Amino acid sequence: MGDMLSIARAEIRRRDWAAIRCGCGLPASHLLDGLMEDVLTCAPAALAAMDKHAFEGPFLRDPAPAVAAVALGMLADGLTPRQASDVLWLMLQLAAGEGGDEDPDSSSLYARTFRVLRGGLTLVYREFLNNPWGSQEARELLEILEVDQSKHAFYEKFLRSTF
Ligand SMILES: [Zn+2]
Repeated sequence: MGDMLSIARAEIRRRDWAAIRCGCGLPASHLLDGLMEDVLTCAPAALAAMDKHAFEGPFLRDPAPAVAAVALGMLADGLTPRQASDVLWLMLQLAAGEGGDEDPDSSSLYARTFRVLRGGLTLVYREFLNNPWGSQEARELLEILEVDQSKHAFYEKFLRSTF
């Protein structure tokens, strides 16, 4: 992995964070003053701190789609199983928000966050099948995000058939 460029860092670079109002009231560019670096190392305190910045309890805040993209990028870049389970926890907070609407074409914060997370479902399936620490979070993400629940049901059976 040494020479590979990071998807998570590309996702951080791609956004105009200063134009996003953070959940704490500051411009979201403040997340780049160290906190996002700690997120990239999966520091548990940094991941937990996204409550108040990217979401607040069950409610999403404006950085949610950008943070969701960074989280997926981290999964894609490669993490230890325990780190991945912490990132899946973060993704679950972003996916489980109240006020979600079912219209995938909606421009709402919830719909935009869902679209980002749905773009990474294959990575969630990978964790579901392979990560004993993250399988429960992955399962809950699949229940929320997967439009084709017959596919999720197949993977549940496939997982059990391998024991
Ligand atoms: Zn903030």
